[in-house]
Amino acid sequence: MNPFHLFLLVATLFAMEFAVALVHKHVMHGFGWGWHRSHHEAPKGAGWERNDLYAIVFAAATILLFMVGASRPWLWWIALGITIYGMLYGILHDVIIHRRLPLAWRPKSGYLHRLATAHHLHHAVRTRENGVSFGFLYAPPVEAIRRELRGGDRQP
Ligand SMILES: [Zn+2]
Ligand SMILES: [Zn+2]
Repeated sequence: MNPFHLFLLVATLFAMEFAVALVHKHVMHGFGWGWHRSHHEAPKGAGWERNDLYAIVFAAATILLFMVGASRPWLWWIALGITIYGMLYGILHDVIIHRRLPLAWRPKSGYLHRLATAHHLHHAVRTRENGVSFGFLYAPPVEAIRRELRGGDRQP
């Protein structure tokens, strides 16, 4: 494998976490709230949410990238990085955190537990504003999020 392509793949994974957190905060909790609201209000479980439209749009955009990348290897590897991020997101956010597929196991400690707790704190805020912890594969320490929820860290 070309080391530059491997670098692109890994860099894309990191960049995606920043990009997705920004999109979640400023688009999904911004003008895109109409689709995302269902994910903060509806009970989780089986069944589709309007919020799933985001996954469809992102998947379609990624397929386009693969098509354009067919003759541009660097773009193809970026598209692969986005796809791997999307799969990790689906497994962590939809299966392990929201349990949309039947799964008996729950993380009780470590990274996954912290990620799940942080995301449940994100859901504790049901409104568009004042959200916390917008990332999906990285979460700040849970205590820092709780402090933010209490308003301790808010800028005046
Ligand atoms: Zn949200
Ligand atoms: Zn969620």
